[in-house]
Amino acid sequence: MIDYKHEPFTDFSKQENKDMVAEGIKVVQEYFGQDFPLVINGERIMTKDKSTVYNPAKKEEIIGYMSQATQKEADKAMDVALETFKSWRNYSFEFRADVLFKAAAIVRKRKAEFTALLIKEAGKPWNEADADVAEGIDFLEYYGRLHLELKNGKKVESRPGEYNQFHYIPLGVGMVISPWNFAFAIMAGTTAAALVSGNTVLLKPSSSTPVVAYKFIEVLEEAGLPNGVVNFIPGSSREIGDYLVDHKDLSFVSFTGSRDVGVRIYERAAVVHEGQVNLKRVIAEMGGKDTIVVDSGVDLDKAADAVVASAFGFSGQKCSACSRVIALEDIHDELLEKVVEKTKELTVGDPETGAYMGPVIDEASIKKIGEYIEIGKKEGKLEVGGNIDNETGHFVYPTVFSGLKHDDRLMQEEIFGPVVGFAKAKDFDQAIEFANDTDYGLTGAVITTSRERMEQARRDFHVGNLYFNRGCTGAIVGYQPFGGFKMSGTDSKAGGPDYLLLHMQGKTTSEMF
Ligand code: NAP
Repeated sequence: MIDYKHEPFTDFSKQENKDMVAEGIKVVQEYFGQDFPLVINGERIMTKDKSTVYNPAKKEEIIGYMSQATQKEADKAMDVALETFKSWRNYSFEFRADVLFKAAAIVRKRKAEFTALLIKEAGKPWNEADADVAEGIDFLEYYGRLHLELKNGKKVESRPGEYNQFHYIPLGVGMVISPWNFAFAIMAGTTAAALVSGNTVLLKPSSSTPVVAYKFIEVLEEAGLPNGVVNFIPGSSREIGDYLVDHKDLSFVSFTGSRDVGVRIYERAAVVHEGQVNLKRVIAEMGGKDTIVVDSGVDLDKAADAVVASAFGFSGQKCSACSRVIALEDIHDELLEKVVEKTKELTVGDPETGAYMGPVIDEASIKKIGEYIEIGKKEGKLEVGGNIDNETGHFVYPTVFSGLKHDDRLMQEEIFGPVVGFAKAKDFDQAIEFANDTDYGLTGAVITTSRERMEQARRDFHVGNLYFNRGCTGAIVGYQPFGGFKMSGTDSKAGGPDYLLLHMQGKTTSEMF
């Protein structure tokens, strides 16, 4: 793709960059505690019912109060989106791509503010917040370029006296449902893909992180997006989730989140309701139970670094996070020892103060992770961590369990917290067999010096994103298209060359001379 390079990460060892975050924090603190509206057709709608959005590292710090859409506002947003689609679908490819390029430029200018907001609203450590903003910028830049490449459709053959064309047109109204863990990147990327493809959008962000989504709406408006193309409807999933997914006029759902919710949406969207004329498409990117396989004869310090960074970066709250290590018997104990030592060095605390690991997102996460720690104590041996501090914020200490069987619950179910389990394999074949033995198939990594084993894993390790001699997190837009197999989802490959096509339909025209 012409001229695309990913957004560089910020070097926070430089004082000027540290100062930048401090400036960003001042900017966001200015609007803390405000009421935030829905945005439908550009109109700000303040509802009586509001959710309280708080900093998970400092529960008493209120980020804001977010208006909540009910079915009444959901209907209004749907009517607007249907009406706006009639014009938006006819805008030029250049116009739509330019909105994304301009939005990327605005976010780049406001990077300190967006980074600070993610530190506060999502509890992200600085480097993770910076990477989240950079990824959002990447999605805007990448999808804008990708959209321009689709302008003339794809070449098809014509016989004498015949002129055949094949073009891509949008689908209609799409619902974008985003998670809190990449509160900016995934929300912005899934919204941008849907809108640039000529669709109109109902955006329902996660209830934990709606303020950063509201700020993105401001960016889109400033970038020149016409009113009504993206309608911002935060709200309780109970009130508007099923209601909109079931809606007869919805053409597609772009969902990123947990397996349970994704499967529910997939099932519901398959039902055809009275008056419905489109079969709904569903993009569902869901959970993971991601494994790092460590072979004999490798640099165990490097392997341990890869495990620790993949397991505990953003407190393990990434769908790609390493939550299982399958190590060959002969190196298992030494690897475990190194991982435990490195884990003990990690700092936990308010990310604003520069701690390596911040909080987990909310009370429900604390409860769920706590339950898995108890399960881990029964199934294996607690090597380090296992403690929880839920006083001022939701903190879980980085936790390592050993002595697990690959099919124990701790090694099968998504925990979505800073917990990693170790199991042994007698040889490499068994390691790959154990790695594959989960319902999920999102990411995985293999650390090996053997080219043959690498090729074996390339063929047999059944995950959407497989990495060699590195950790299993950190996919880059346009470099490592992202999406999973099996119960990890529909393998949409966000940030990849085929992604926009999921939001469009191909139209063939044939003319006789
Ligand atoms: P979640 O609980 O499934 O929520 C995701 C989104 O779905 C939120 O906006 C949520 O709204 C909404 N939702 C919940 N119930 C709904 C319903 N019945 N109908 C429509 N929408 C509904 O997931 P999460 O806790 O935010 O995110 C963590 C999960 O996402 C993990 O499982 C992680 O692995 C996965 N994830 C996957 C990827 C990937 O690319 N594969 C990337 C990131 C995260 P409310 O917040 O209002 O409930």
